[in-house]
Amino acid sequence: MRAIAVHPDVVVVTSRVWQTSCAAVRGGAEAFVIDSPVYPDELEILPAVLAQADFPVAGLLVTHGDWDHLLGRLAFPDAPLGCAETTAARLAAEPGAAQRALRAFDHEHYVERPAPLSLPGVQALPVPGHCEVGDRELELHPADGHTADGMSIWIPWAEVLVCGDYLSPVEIPMISPGGSLDGYLATLERLRPLVERAAAVIAGHGGALDGPRALAVLREDVAYLEALRRDGDAAPLPLARRTAEQRRIHGENVARVGG
Ligand SMILES: [Zn+2]
Repeated sequence: MRAIAVHPDVVVVTSRVWQTSCAAVRGGAEAFVIDSPVYPDELEILPAVLAQADFPVAGLLVTHGDWDHLLGRLAFPDAPLGCAETTAARLAAEPGAAQRALRAFDHEHYVERPAPLSLPGVQALPVPGHCEVGDRELELHPADGHTADGMSIWIPWAEVLVCGDYLSPVEIPMISPGGSLDGYLATLERLRPLVERAAAVIAGHGGALDGPRALAVLREDVAYLEALRRDGDAAPLPLARRTAEQRRIHGENVARVGG
């Protein structure tokens, strides 16, 4: 697991699986952890990594309800967990879904965990809206389309965008069950002015990008999605993301948008 500081108040750790990103943001005397790494050893070491960096963790945020982003409670069992209202609604509508998906992953990869995942008392945050961390304030922006739920988090004083599963340099736009192509494109347009101002963009998979690189990914993703709508299966994948796994995801996108 890699950990890098993209700003004195923003640290990013990247999981060994799917390059899943976890960001910590500090506002004065308290810090929040956004999303999570995946493997047990990564979750076990996370509190020590952040304590050493002088990030006193007071709460958890998640960008969306996919299980691989929801594991922060395994590292900080007593921390309050905040998410978009859309994500809270999804978690309430699919009780146990994240735990089942986590168990399926663990069985497939022979992963053992010291404790089960529990997600009681999730706090729903109004989005668009604001969320205080210490003496600072985060901006919450709606981010649906990958799934039906979610938010991106803008850290104004650091000019850092934690966008959730968008703008990934390693994964093509993925339209999951509940997501939509139109929603995905609308989210990209909503994020564009933030990306244009950003010193760093933290993608849900692939870690931190500088602003110009994230903007290049955004343009590629818009082009891919427009081609997907127009040409279905024949849509070309972004040049740097033409692996077998991305072609498989493309196939699922085609099935989902009916191309
Ligand atoms: Zn994800």
